[in-house]
Amino acid sequence: TRRFENKVVLVTGAAGGIGRAVALRFAAEGARVAVNDLDAGAVQAVVDEIKAAGGQALAAPADVSSAPQVDAMFSATEQTLGHVDVLYNNAGLIDTTRHFLDGDEAWWTRIVAVNLGSVFLCSHRAARIMARRRRGVIISTSSGGATRAHRGNVAYDATKGGIEAMTRAMALDLAPYGIRVNGVVPGFINTYGLTQEQLREREQTVPLGRYGVADDMTGAALFLASDDAAYITGQFLAVDGGVLVQ
Ligand code: NAD
Repeated sequence: TRRFENKVVLVTGAAGGIGRAVALRFAAEGARVAVNDLDAGAVQAVVDEIKAAGGQALAAPADVSSAPQVDAMFSATEQTLGHVDVLYNNAGLIDTTRHFLDGDEAWWTRIVAVNLGSVFLCSHRAARIMARRRRGVIISTSSGGATRAHRGNVAYDATKGGIEAMTRAMALDLAPYGIRVNGVVPGFINTYGLTQEQLREREQTVPLGRYGVADDMTGAALFLASDDAAYITGQFLAVDGGVLVQ
């Protein structure tokens, strides 16, 4: 089916594991997709992949922690693809672990700017476009760390907890404008080059008995973006094989 025909979807961090899978899936469902990430070459590779499969996409490289770059990204997207219907906030720094005593201000500031600041900047820009049209969907990416501590992840977990609180608060402010604001909680999704041995060891902690792959995230993304979720706002959907309910 092509549920997103005539929709414009902007995916941040879309050259990465989960973002790329989500961008490809939205495109396969008919959306015109703005593909964002830091590196222009990596972004273009995903755009080429979408086009090779018969989809429509725009390369929208930007550092989403920079307000001027986010503004330029939205302007280019609007001019080339049209008004944004769905914003999928996925960009994030994942390799950030440091014991709290070894953390410094630069570590904290960068993680907060990229993981949390970007959600503010992109959501704010998208919401102003969506509010005028009285419709739109914003989806952001949390982590199990938002509700459960992980060693060495004070900064990362703070940003993900912040994303969950922001999502609920944005859902309230934006509900009168027909904008739904939700999020996903990826579990252990294999995007970061673990060895077979590490994968086998870690997947023993997953109730469904396997680690996740990036494609496991796409169903939740499409559901929350679709009219099937028309009465859902302010919620997070965990896609984690049951880890968080243990
Ligand atoms: P990934 O590193 O493959 O993808 C993240 C992407 O974000 C990268 O391509 C990176 O270049 C991009 N990015 C980083 N900083 C950016 C910036 N300033 N501007 C634009 N793009 C930027 O990792 P992933 O596993 O695909 O993670 C995607 C999201 O899922 C992240 O928000 C992460 O915190 C979250 N998450 C992942 C897991 C998991 O198990 N993989 C678990 C919980 C949460």
